[in-house]
Amino acid sequence: MNLDNPLSKSIKCKNCGMDNLVWDYQFNTNTGKWRLWNTNTEMPHECKTPKPPEPRKMVFCPRLFCGRTMKDTELQNHLKKEHIDWGDYL
Ligand SMILES: [Zn+2]
Ligand SMILES: [Zn+2]
Repeated sequence: MNLDNPLSKSIKCKNCGMDNLVWDYQFNTNTGKWRLWNTNTEMPHECKTPKPPEPRKMVFCPRLFCGRTMKDTELQNHLKKEHIDWGDYL
């Protein structure tokens, strides 16, 4: 790690709050990806805190003449509630 590198400034993980981390500039040079490096353990920072789930995609109800949009997690419920007479083949 080149300490003259401006990216070697210690930062804090926004996700789990761990500090003494730096951006792994060498890793970025090699792979084009960024990862955090823990200067305490001399290991890449593996975040233990799970990230909040991505916002769910909105989907169209696939049933003809319905055309409603909803979160993809709600589609099954919607089909059961609104389209129960249409069969349950989805
Ligand atoms: Zn973290
Ligand atoms: Zn529908």
